[in-house]
Amino acid sequence: MNFTKLPQLVDMRGKLKSKGTYSKRTKTITHRVWHHSLTKKHLGGSDAASFADYHVGTLGWPGIGYTFIIEPKNVVNTPNGKRARIVYTHDIDRRTYHVGNSNQFALGICVAGDYRYDTMDDATIASIADLHSALVKDNIGKNDTSHSEMPGYSWKACCVYDYRKHIEWQGSTTPVTPSPAPDTYTIQEGDTLWGIAHKDGAGGVKVEDLIKANPGINPAKLQIGQKINFGSSKDVVQPDINTKEDTKPSSSGDEVVRSIQMTLNSRYKFGLVVDGIKGPKTKSALIKAVQTELNKQFNKKLVVDGKWGAKTKAAIVTVKKGAKGNLAWTLQAALYLEGFNPGPLDSIFGKGTESALIKFQKAREISADKKAGKVTFTKLFAA
Ligand SMILES: [Zn+2]
Repeated sequence: MNFTKLPQLVDMRGKLKSKGTYSKRTKTITHRVWHHSLTKKHLGGSDAASFADYHVGTLGWPGIGYTFIIEPKNVVNTPNGKRARIVYTHDIDRRTYHVGNSNQFALGICVAGDYRYDTMDDATIASIADLHSALVKDNIGKNDTSHSEMPGYSWKACCVYDYRKHIEWQGSTTPVTPSPAPDTYTIQEGDTLWGIAHKDGAGGVKVEDLIKANPGINPAKLQIGQKINFGSSKDVVQPDINTKEDTKPSSSGDEVVRSIQMTLNSRYKFGLVVDGIKGPKTKSALIKAVQTELNKQFNKKLVVDGKWGAKTKAAIVTVKKGAKGNLAWTLQAALYLEGFNPGPLDSIFGKGTESALIKFQKAREISADKKAGKVTFTKLFAA
């Protein structure tokens, strides 16, 4: 095996927290699935040992769900240069839990970190490339996919880094869309959602995932023969199933800011943390929303980068009283974030929006013309 010879690899098979063993795969590995942990890379919990504690202790799985974990905070000096440590946790032929009903043929690799916010360092990138090329040489898997590219997981914010960029492709197959695995399950006698979530082939799906993916069902009254989804509720952006983050309900911060963040996530899939705190990330996401709308509604060809640059400024349209829709909503949200409450964020430019806008324009000493055009939007969005 080439991968076992990587100098930055640490064999921790049998050494991490476990509760029994995973069964053997009944299928050959065809997919290498890339995850990120959604835990900030330098924090205490961003390593294999913590993920194992969580998967076993909290989720009740037999062992850690990923076969490989790349740990950016543990940098190793190797003859090839600095590398992030790679932890090897289970024999390759063990069907660990990480992508629900695709576990049988999918190898789980997790890069510790929350790449909505963390940036990827060279030692981590090098370890991704090294592990990938070793697995290719070892003939383990054919295609690379991110968690959210696997059947049933398009709603997952995992992984959000562009793993394709960091992979050494020599000798490897170009990534293709994975062959569809069934996304539904037919209820059988005696089934409960808990039982289904812990079934063979469903490993890694959580009861909460099932409830979210099946808004119409009554968990207490499952009907035999009824088909349920394994997880395709399109509008939910959640942290990875395998991390502590998603068990922490957020009730902090400002209610309206939280609703802005949730709307940005469900409408545009930005994967913002819903913390109710107005900061540069929320503002930047709002600019991305404006850019997306300008592209969609007005055929502009803006780069959706969340920055208020000259091109975006040139492309902005005037939003005035009576306007309805997503652009009116972004104006309302931007006014709110600047401290000028337009009333309910209802996507309609009415009296409340107008009066908040006039107050904003006066406070910023620009013409109080009751319309939001280039000047006003620039005051709202330029840092
Ligand atoms: Zn994942």
